[in-house]
Amino acid sequence: MWNMRCQVCGRDPDEDDRGLLWLESKAPDEIAAAHGVGAPVLTCYPPICSPCLRASTAQCPDLRKRATVLRVQAVRLYGVIGPHYTPTSDGRLVIGTSEPSPEEKTFCYHDPRLPMVLAFQQLIQLEDFTIVTGTNQIGGKTRWATPADV
Ligand SMILES: [Zn+2]
Repeated sequence: MWNMRCQVCGRDPDEDDRGLLWLESKAPDEIAAAHGVGAPVLTCYPPICSPCLRASTAQCPDLRKRATVLRVQAVRLYGVIGPHYTPTSDGRLVIGTSEPSPEEKTFCYHDPRLPMVLAFQQLIQLEDFTIVTGTNQIGGKTRWATPADV
């Protein structure tokens, strides 16, 4: 993730003056419903290159049904996904008694509960992006927020 390599092949992702190419496994309306129209999007997926985008969407039935292609201008390190453990009086660590909601599994780097989280995946926030539509969706420079800005 940190090196911003293609999520499939590990080579350089596609980038043009609109930003890095990104593939999200959600429909555009799902992205808007989860985050708000135009609001930043949290993702655990790195960017993607053009050949891998074409191959992924051609070969994966789920991606053919619902996926969104984005051009991303700015990203920021956000936090992690994982369970939060709570210490008990007898020294054990327990996860909550009920299945946490997706929001409860997401912790930003400023969250005071973070030291007790077992991180499964790193999250980044797509802050400045456009949803690409039509056939001209595949091709600059993308600016990174620094970890100090988190
Ligand atoms: Zn690739």
